[in-house]
Amino acid sequence: MLYMRGSKYDYDGWEEMGATKWSWNRIFSTMNDIEDAHLTGVNESLHHRDGPIAITNEGNDKPILNKFKQAIKNLGYGEADPNDGELSGVGPVQFNYYQNQRRSSYYEYLYTYHKATNPKIESSSIATRIIFDENSKAIGVEYVKDGVKKYAKARNEIVVCAGAIETPKLLMLSGIGPKAHLDELNINVIADRPVGKNLHDHVGVILPVFNKTGAGESGAVVAFLKSSESESQSDIEMFSYLEGDFVFMGAILVKAESRGEIKLRPDSPNDKPVIDPQYLTEKKDRERLAKGVQTLFKIINEIDVTETGYEKMKLPPYPVCQNISKETLEYYECLLHTLTV
Ligand SMILES: Cc1cc2nc3c(=O)[nH]c(=O)nc-3n(C[C@H](O)[C@H](O)[C@H](O)COP(=O)(O)OP(=O)(O)OC[C@H]3O[C@@H](n4cnc5c(N)ncnc54)[C@H](O)[C@@H]3O)c2cc1C
Repeated sequence: MLYMRGSKYDYDGWEEMGATKWSWNRIFSTMNDIEDAHLTGVNESLHHRDGPIAITNEGNDKPILNKFKQAIKNLGYGEADPNDGELSGVGPVQFNYYQNQRRSSYYEYLYTYHKATNPKIESSSIATRIIFDENSKAIGVEYVKDGVKKYAKARNEIVVCAGAIETPKLLMLSGIGPKAHLDELNINVIADRPVGKNLHDHVGVILPVFNKTGAGESGAVVAFLKSSESESQSDIEMFSYLEGDFVFMGAILVKAESRGEIKLRPDSPNDKPVIDPQYLTEKKDRERLAKGVQTLFKIINEIDVTETGYEKMKLPPYPVCQNISKETLEYYECLLHTLTV
């Protein structure tokens, strides 16, 4: 698992939008406290040792990855710690991994905390509704375990963290969502909010590019770039990673403008919600990612693998784009239709 803190500008933006105490400066010390950082080549004041979650950037100093790093530097970017909050430049990936073990939040937090304090954990349970009192204050959660409906009463607070898809579903089932949609489903409206209308993802293109039989390598390097000079912040994440005998490279849209929607299923709201992703519907997203993919192909073509023992893999033909000149951005925008994941 890649350990990524994200962009300081996102945190500051969330605070500006009303999420008090979420600015980068306020959240930074919390992020530092969770780390047991085993890192080389970074500014140590940005990291911390002896926290619960071990991270490392060891194992990324591989000749083939250094070729990618150099290619990014040739574009004018410097080396950077991908977790300095700036998201600009190229550097070795930091992993939630140390001494051959994945360091997950489950083992380092829940398991350890569980052993120390023995909290009540209801596993194999599905939350079905947040319960409100007559003043619309959330006071508990209804859930189903082994087919039996149960209730948990809140002593202090309820944290809804069911993921990007199930969280809006649970909120809407509980009466927090767009009034018109909840009215259609005869759900009592507690708060009319645009829940489900902010769906977005960081889509991108990932390709296997080089291979070496028996290489059996691992490691990764990540870069954050601007698709054009006019961008105020990096809008493309580019990376190269080794997996067994293969080298993969990719370009990802950092901040999508396209917005999809999650709605409850009209005939059965408790079932899987209806997801309308709307990926790349905004022209700006297609332009940015197309420029990123154009740069990615340039890098793939320019890297000289001779000394590394790797061979370039033949990229497949893209028949739908064959009548468009490869020199144009239109060609790379066309590729997005086939290659985006
Ligand atoms: C393929 C893939 C690769 C990724 N790689 C990385 C990476 O390398 N680095 C990184 O930082 N991020 C990565 N991410 C993103 C990262 O996984 C998510 O950002 C993160 O898991 C979100 O955490 P969360 O706790 O908000 O939600 P989730 O991890 O989605 O957890 C939600 C939990 O709630 C449970 N749940 C859902 N509904 C209910 C319900 N009604 N009642 C009870 N429980 C419920 C779910 O079963 C789940 O366990 C990746 C994501 C994907 C899909």
